[in-house]
Amino acid sequence: MSTLTAQPPVARSLAGSGLVEIRGVHKSYSGLEVLHNISLTVEPGQVVALLGPSGSGKSTLLRAINHLETIDAGEITIDGEFIGYEQRGGVLHELPEKKVLERRTQVGMVFQNFNLFPHLTALENIIEAPIALKRMNKAAATERALTLLARVGLADRADHYPRQLSGGQQQRVAIARALALDPGVLLFDEPTSALDPELVGEVLDVIRGLAQSGTTLIIVTHEMGFAAEVADQVVFLDRGRIVEQGSPSQVLRNPQHARTRDFLNKVL
Ligand code: ADP
Ligand code: MG
Repeated sequence: MSTLTAQPPVARSLAGSGLVEIRGVHKSYSGLEVLHNISLTVEPGQVVALLGPSGSGKSTLLRAINHLETIDAGEITIDGEFIGYEQRGGVLHELPEKKVLERRTQVGMVFQNFNLFPHLTALENIIEAPIALKRMNKAAATERALTLLARVGLADRADHYPRQLSGGQQQRVAIARALALDPGVLLFDEPTSALDPELVGEVLDVIRGLAQSGTTLIIVTHEMGFAAEVADQVVFLDRGRIVEQGSPSQVLRNPQHARTRDFLNKVL
């Protein structure tokens, strides 16, 4: 899954207030630099909107946060811990895959194309990981899954298979599945980009509810109105670099950089 070719980050103090701390991250794919010196602190309860043109590195950054991608330099911690490494005696050791999977449960991920298991019902999709990774018993996992399905407005769809659900419903199941592991932070990679326009609203409503309830969120989206409404912090990425970063009113209504203005003119 992860490409463990990179050098592990240098051991150092992991002090920092952020729930997610990204410091000096670089990433290249065979000579092409896709992330350049990215630093970002996400405080508990914050909502961060990550914007930028196609190919700017947004998905790579999200995947690096949950250690689906390794990075070439810099470091990323969740609640003061690396997902892929452990600090022992001042030295970083790569963690075995099983441990990485356990630690990754701190970070929920929702993808553009839902990525539900097609052969499992909505309920089965949600209980799979808590049983496999958190050793929850089936009854407890089922009870929690039903609560989460109700929370995303799908209490009556527990026994439906993904193919029997609309795109918006599938994405809401995917959100419930991500929440089932009780992660400290949820990452959304263009969660509404694959949806028919009339189904976008129901998914944004669920994400808005999470934002209002204090869940820490990092959202890649092209829905600028939504970003302006829910984000505490907006980050504009272009060609692997953070070009502009600040409050929605700073970045979206009063951008300082020509590249941000060009981008906003194209998407708005
Ligand atoms: P975004 O999500 O902003 O569209 P990505 O993070 O997907 O951007 O991609 C950033 C750049 O990295 C692009 O040039 C893309 O082609 C490249 N890239 C992404 N994943 C890989 C990969 N696995 N191997 C090689 N290049 C990749
Ligand atoms: Mg992407």
